[in-house]
Amino acid sequence: MFNPIEASNNIKRSFIDYITTSLHFADARYDKLFRERLDEHGVISKGPYLDIGGSFKNGKCLRELAEAGRASTLFATLENISEKEKEIKFERPLYLHQEQALLCANNGNNLVVTTGTGSGKTECFLLPILNSLLEEKRMGKLTNAVRAIIIYPMNALANDQMKRLRKILASSTDITFGLYTGNTRHTQSRAYADYRTLHESEPLPNEKIAREAMQQSPPHILITNYSMLEYMMLRPKDDSVFSGANLRYIVLDEAHIYRGATGIETALLMRRLRARISTQKTVQYILTSATLGGKDADDEIVAFAENLCSASFSAENIIRSVEVRQPMIDELDFPDELFEELYESNRDTAEILQSYNADFAPHGDSNEKLFELMLRCRLFAQLRDSTRQPKTVGMIANDMDISRALLVHLVSASAKAVKNGTSLVKARYHFFLRALEGVFLALTDIEGLYLTRKECDVKGNRVFECAICTDCGRIALAGNADNQMLTHAKQFDEGISYFMLKQAGEADFLSIDDEQENEVADSNTDDSDFVICSVCGAVDSEKYAMLNSICEHGQSYYVKVRLAQERSSGNHACPACEFGNFRRFYIGYEAATAVIGTALYEQLPEYENTTVAVKGNSDEPQSVFGFAKVALFLHLLDKIFKTG
Ligand SMILES: [Zn+2]
Ligand SMILES: [Zn+2]
Repeated sequence: MFNPIEASNNIKRSFIDYITTSLHFADARYDKLFRERLDEHGVISKGPYLDIGGSFKNGKCLRELAEAGRASTLFATLENISEKEKEIKFERPLYLHQEQALLCANNGNNLVVTTGTGSGKTECFLLPILNSLLEEKRMGKLTNAVRAIIIYPMNALANDQMKRLRKILASSTDITFGLYTGNTRHTQSRAYADYRTLHESEPLPNEKIAREAMQQSPPHILITNYSMLEYMMLRPKDDSVFSGANLRYIVLDEAHIYRGATGIETALLMRRLRARISTQKTVQYILTSATLGGKDADDEIVAFAENLCSASFSAENIIRSVEVRQPMIDELDFPDELFEELYESNRDTAEILQSYNADFAPHGDSNEKLFELMLRCRLFAQLRDSTRQPKTVGMIANDMDISRALLVHLVSASAKAVKNGTSLVKARYHFFLRALEGVFLALTDIEGLYLTRKECDVKGNRVFECAICTDCGRIALAGNADNQMLTHAKQFDEGISYFMLKQAGEADFLSIDDEQENEVADSNTDDSDFVICSVCGAVDSEKYAMLNSICEHGQSYYVKVRLAQERSSGNHACPACEFGNFRRFYIGYEAATAVIGTALYEQLPEYENTTVAVKGNSDEPQSVFGFAKVALFLHLLDKIFKTG
């Protein structure tokens, strides 16, 4: 059974292992300190938080909409499998916000969809896109040309979307789709080989897997990311994708990240894209986001969308979900073992409930039985109250005065509670991982290792940014050394100096062997020895410091260092091993994503069916693009539905 606490711990462990293996301190004391800091709650990981949500207000089903002439009748045959297995259900009611998005888009409007995670946001743009493609198909007008471009901020989300499209379009092979990112191979043969290795299956005939295939015959639905789109528009080879397009929809997913500087660039990109599409037909925009604000922010949202897309939006086309909470029927107490058994036992749900006198829907299926049980269960009422605000699993368990295990059991049972197609809650655990943006050292304090940037420690002593030799693990201080002061450098600054900390026995060595000097051109070794004041950061050559004071703090605070020489490659050679280069502690979001993927899919195969989405942390939209934070949503609900 999926256990979010274990899963989060495992992910955190893998991430720490990854970081400490790729950037390893030779000094055991710092290595230990580094691991301890990484392990602290909130430093590189947070959570898991629990969000049980409510269910969303239902609208009509696609069949009803098709009968009323408001959706394509071909939705009935889109997926040639049983209703139960369909990704896009024909008979089950859509959420009201999904229906509204479809109808609004059909009327030719630009939309902003701002609903929570797990609210079926993707359908809000997939339904309009599929609807217009199916209608073209019905009228025999489905020619080869791009109809929709879906732009994701990051590849992980684009890959998830591809998985869904493969399921949805498996039997509608006249609708083509393709993913065009930096990872997309140019030639069909390479792309095919990659696909076979990755998926261990044949690609669908309607999936364009290679760049050349998309250039020759662009797909109806093109999925890409912002930077790839920009790149494609510069390349004559990709011209056919745009010049021949018969574009109806441009979708910007997670649109909140296009604020600030990225927003200005994206707005320009959107204008250039529009200019490149030769057909004069009106293009509609669909923006989706979890966090654009409530009703009172409507004007702001409209202004944001209009600036981004240079198109007109209106407040009535901002689509929001409507949450509904089922009222409690009773508040009874049940033994903890009931929930433990429901979680762990292989016995039939009905049987378990009956043995605890807890079956309140004798004629219903197990999901309905759980639905009726929860609405009579005091613990569930407490759970709902406690989760009105975002809280960690630990905080909620404390609030409710129950163990974390019982909380997990309770959530698991309530996530399976469904009646008439309506689920009682939308349970999700959110686990956050943060990318690492530097390690910082205070040389006056042996415990002084920090994972957040700071200029000084509490005593007012300087804190320096740390770099490490990728080979031998020796430490250097990195920064700008202008004006005889070592100061912090920004991530992409040029001309950064690296001063390796000398060890005790090395304090007096003044030269390295000439024969080792091959790559380090013309360095006068004496000029490479410096001292840095651990209190104020003053830096000067050792020779000078032997005779003069370089600041008011005095010799006892001076730390001996050796300047690393720059190689022709731009790397800075480690003076100790001569082989490695110094690297600062930046572990970007891409690495974090890869680690999560590995942790979940390889090390923990039992979670294979859990829907896992790696998303930017919506609390800090500006940092998502800037390699800062990664959030992991473990969509527990899907897993439980399948097994429940
Ligand atoms: Zn080294
Ligand atoms: Zn000083």
